[in-house]
Amino acid sequence: MPELPEVETVKRGLEPVMQGFKFERVTLNRLNLRFPFDKNFISRIQGKILTSLIRRGKFLKATLSSNDVLYMHLGMSGRFSIDNDLTAVYNSNNSTNPKHNHVIFEMSNGVVVTYNDPRRFGFMELIAPGEPSRLDKMGPEPLDNMFNAPYLFNKLSGKKSAIKSALLDQSIIGGLGNIYVCEAIFKAKISPKRLAGTLTIKETEILVNEIKGVIKKAIEAGGSSLKDFASVDGNLGYFQHSFEVYGQEKKPCVVCETPIERIIQSGRSSFYCKACQK
Ligand SMILES: [Zn+2]
Repeated sequence: MPELPEVETVKRGLEPVMQGFKFERVTLNRLNLRFPFDKNFISRIQGKILTSLIRRGKFLKATLSSNDVLYMHLGMSGRFSIDNDLTAVYNSNNSTNPKHNHVIFEMSNGVVVTYNDPRRFGFMELIAPGEPSRLDKMGPEPLDNMFNAPYLFNKLSGKKSAIKSALLDQSIIGGLGNIYVCEAIFKAKISPKRLAGTLTIKETEILVNEIKGVIKKAIEAGGSSLKDFASVDGNLGYFQHSFEVYGQEKKPCVVCETPIERIIQSGRSSFYCKACQK
């Protein structure tokens, strides 16, 4: 499942071939993904220039010359590929099955950008200027200066939920997902079961630094390639080798050799070392 670093990798791959170029032709091969497409999806995008492409949390945010904003979310298995012509799109290139090519953007520079998503948990939403969007209440980015120890300490104070759940709350921090939360709290030596409100300011400082560290390292590694995610150029990432606890159930802890445990919290797996994390 793509997380912030993977989406950042996709954004970096798409930016040079999409930003500043016009959408010559938009093709939808179905009416919905996780949500229905806007009924005027094609006409609102076709002929417009993509003026800026940024990442916010796990979303790609494309601003169009009409001032409409196109939000794109990769869901569980969404990915983009870049081709130089349409024939490549309909031939099974790299590992994507063409029957899952749901959206095709033909850009004015001749590049064809295809959105492929076998499980269809991804979605694309068009937001007109002034319209509310699901990003309005999103907390700061982990690498933003606004995300710091005093900010997080304040957000967590009095919270009775587990720290693991609090860090997945997108209104507290934008874009953090299960994998990197597991990794960061392991490095900070904090148990996923700790109540969020019990962290000291010192622990919060360490945690903030570890969150920034794992995210920075993953972005540098070009995103991970867990399960069915591949970066835009079709090459799988390689960060998965660096996970210290995520997916490491029963393997020895890299610090103390205690077997890593897996527990379920709010329906999600948490991997942790019960000796190191308190
Ligand atoms: Zn340990």
